Amino acid sequence: MNRRDFLGTATVGLTGALVALADSSAQPEPQDRGTAWLCVTCGTQFPSAVHPPPACPICQDSRQYVGWNGQQWTTLDELSKTHENEITEEEPGVFSIHTKPNFAISQRAFLVKTTEGNVLWDCVALLDEKTKAEIRRLGGISAIAISHPHFYTTMVEWSRVFEDAPIHLHELNRQWVMHPDPSIRFWSGEVKRLTPNLTLIKTGGHFDGFQVMHWSRSRDGNGVLLAGDQPDVCMDRNWVTFMYSYPNYIPLNRAAIQGIVAALNPYSFERLHGAFIGQFLTKNAKEIVSRSAERYLAAIS
Ligand SMILES: [Zn+2]
Ligand SMILES: [Zn+2]
Repeated sequence: MNRRDFLGTATVGLTGALVALADSSAQPEPQDRGTAWLCVTCGTQFPSAVHPPPACPICQDSRQYVGWNGQQWTTLDELSKTHENEITEEEPGVFSIHTKPNFAISQRAFLVKTTEGNVLWDCVALLDEKTKAEIRRLGGISAIAISHPHFYTTMVEWSRVFEDAPIHLHELNRQWVMHPDPSIRFWSGEVKRLTPNLTLIKTGGHFDGFQVMHWSRSRDGNGVLLAGDQPDVCMDRNWVTFMYSYPNYIPLNRAAIQGIVAALNPYSFERLHGAFIGQFLTKNAKEIVSRSAERYLAAIS
């Protein structure tokens, strides 16, 4: 996987449509309440406005970047004309949702089906009619939880479509919410139990309020970790890594790595699902995480 290629392609491919959009909004009708603009580089949706925001704070942050063509915007309607989602069963009860061709950061979302309800873990910007129908066929969504701001995207849109499902975010990431909404429930502390078997764990690191989701009893009884991009699965799928910024290659310090390992320590997990296609540790996932942390600490010491 080459994430940088994903990002470059997505930005260039949408340029034509974006220019047209910007022109068409130049002279709005007075009654025009605008549209909810999406940042092309990170997929974040902003509240409805006639004109797009002056900038995307998520992309201006040192953990992301503004694309080579400057800040670009699109809308959900435009995106759904050129892209579609693919839903794949990764293991019994865990379905990945990925947008094709790649858009923005090109992460996957996951629908985790449990006996206590379905949880949408992480999010993708595109939510079209076909996706809504497929998710409904899988039982809908009763709660949403997202690892960190790079994947917040259109979370409010998803919540509204699925009966105002609560969106659980860690309060240390509050400043990075670009589209405030009553469905967002900030939690504080180290751990939040969503259901008897699903737990949000605040690990910090990549973002102060970074969270992962632990499923203690998957269909085969083993623990499963839904990690977002931290730990991030390495190319050989025998190691993971941890970064303050992936696109800008900024590492984390010793205290942050030790904090992540300590937060995960009480939980057992045999498998780990990462944010990007193919990032699946099928066995010994916890052991892989701890030996990868040791390798990382040796490299930065
Ligand atoms: Zn952005
Ligand atoms: Zn990230």
